Amino acid sequence: MQFDAAVRATEFDAFYTFNPARLAHATRAFVEGFPGSVLYAVKANPLPQVISTVRAAGVAGFDVASIGEALLVQAEAPGARCWFMNPAKSRRDIERAWRELGLRDFVVDCAAELEKLLEVLPTQEPSLRTYVRFHSGASDALYDLNSKFGASHADTLRLLQRIAAQTRWSSGIAFHPGSQTISVEPYLAALQTAARLVEQANAPVAALDIGGGFPARYDNMPMSPPASLLQRLGEFVASSSALKRVELLCEPGRVLAYDCMSLFARVILRKDQALYCGAGIFGGLLPAQQFFQLPVRAWRGSEPIDVAADGRSEFVVFGPTCDSNDRLAFPYALPVHLREGDWIEFQHVGAYSESVRCAFNGFSVDHLVTVGEHEMG
Ligand SMILES: *Cc1c(COP(=O)(O)O)cnc(C)c1O
Repeated sequence: MQFDAAVRATEFDAFYTFNPARLAHATRAFVEGFPGSVLYAVKANPLPQVISTVRAAGVAGFDVASIGEALLVQAEAPGARCWFMNPAKSRRDIERAWRELGLRDFVVDCAAELEKLLEVLPTQEPSLRTYVRFHSGASDALYDLNSKFGASHADTLRLLQRIAAQTRWSSGIAFHPGSQTISVEPYLAALQTAARLVEQANAPVAALDIGGGFPARYDNMPMSPPASLLQRLGEFVASSSALKRVELLCEPGRVLAYDCMSLFARVILRKDQALYCGAGIFGGLLPAQQFFQLPVRAWRGSEPIDVAADGRSEFVVFGPTCDSNDRLAFPYALPVHLREGDWIEFQHVGAYSESVRCAFNGFSVDHLVTVGEHEMG
């Protein structure tokens, strides 16, 4: 169904739009700006058309956290390489990743996880590479992943040494400053740590994976495009005698995907300045429950409502379920005369919306419309 037909349709109260040209553009720009290999982090948005679009736009491979994600990539991007970069993997999944799916890149952040790899994988196989994920230090990321993963400096050195002593694998180091890292400083501090690790390791370090976390643009966080951040990281690496010799990788998810999708939610009830919509946090607006104010537009039928003519006022926005948590964190400035049947278009929901939505209370946003670059104005 085309976009025009979708906004006029009466049979659903919410749907997504997907703009492949935007995703391709963001991906190409990032790949051009990063001085190394770019892997797409599948968990940000695992839609088949997202996988195939980022691949066609030039990513070197995919960062997967599970067998399910690896199978998805193999189905949608046959022949593409997957990196298994989850520091906590079951023995069975390690085995399947290597034997059935041919994955060669794994990550650990502690001795117990390395023990599993040593027992399950062939230690004399030189095409295998193990990354040691280290704690990247203080971060201003909204989702600080270091609270869950990351070896200390000393443990990282010990793990690298063990890999060198007991296997013929190559090794690398990795970090992730957390999702939606606001400033460049956490990356620069982690790169400094990485340089010291490479210098102090009594073992060859072939690669450095700097993870994801590159920030997206939301109304309450007007981040600029990643080009200048990438340039600063590139300059740092080029000026470091330890780092300029290693292969460089990164694993962005959010920054590539965030602006390729919108969620259209119909106003199903207006109660004064409160709006109840066809989709809320369970339908894909979870990121807006806490941290983010999404850019919005209001539509009546297939035309955006002219706010200049109508004027704006602030609304509290609820989803359709009976859970009181199903409410967005920020008030939204929308047309004064917004009424039942109108649409609210929540923009920048390409990352961590589709991948975390569920059918709680029987509301499921299963309709997706692919749109051309200029189709929605
Ligand atoms: C989530 C995750 C990513 C992607 O993070 P973004 O903030 O979406 O860029 C990359 N690598 C790993 C290991 C992750 O867990």
